[in-house]
Formats: sequence, C-alpha cells, structure tokens
Amino acid sequence: MKECWLCGRNGSFDPLDKHHIFGHTNRNKSEKYGLTVFLCHDRCHLNGEYAVHRNAQTMQMLHEYGQRKAMEEQGWTIEEFRNEFGKSYL
Ligand SMILES: [Zn+2]
Ligand SMILES: [Zn+2]
Repeated sequence: MKECWLCGRNGSFDPLDKHHIFGHTNRNKSEKYGLTVFLCHDRCHLNGEYAVHRNAQTMQMLHEYGQRKAMEEQGWTIEEFRNEFGKSYL
C-alpha cells in the first residue's frame, strides 16, 4: 500500500504525488534506481511548512534517506554514490 514518506498518510484526502529524491540532472537516475517516494501533494510535497520543496531540512533528510537506500541496494560506498550522483549528502 502506498503511503506518504513524510507523514504516513495514505492519500485519501490529499492525493499522493511521486517525488524523485534527487531531482534536476539526477532525475533520470532517481527513476533508474527506484529512488522515489510518495508524498501528500499539498501538505508534504509542495506547500506545507515541512513540505520537501519548501523546507531545506526535510529535503536534507530525504536526500540522506535516498543515499542510504541507494548504497544499501546497490552495494555502493559513499565514493561510488558520489561518482554516480555528483555529491554525498551524508
Ligand atoms: Zn517533488
Ligand atoms: Zn504526508
């Protein structure tokens, strides 16, 4: 079942969006390695106080989560992650 990465809601009131953890030039790589999460469209994705696109701390938390997930799933070191995504967030 889908749920919001940030608050755990299931999208029944505020529909869930798919967000790419590493955006911009790394968007395709996020897709390739399955580094995406669901977020409540309004509250947790775009407009809320803690929404990832508005709150630098939430964005940092999500980048850390994504990097650890990628390193675990791909068996990468920090250096290997950096080679693929351009920087380390840890
Ligand atoms: Zn997004
Ligand atoms: Zn949420």
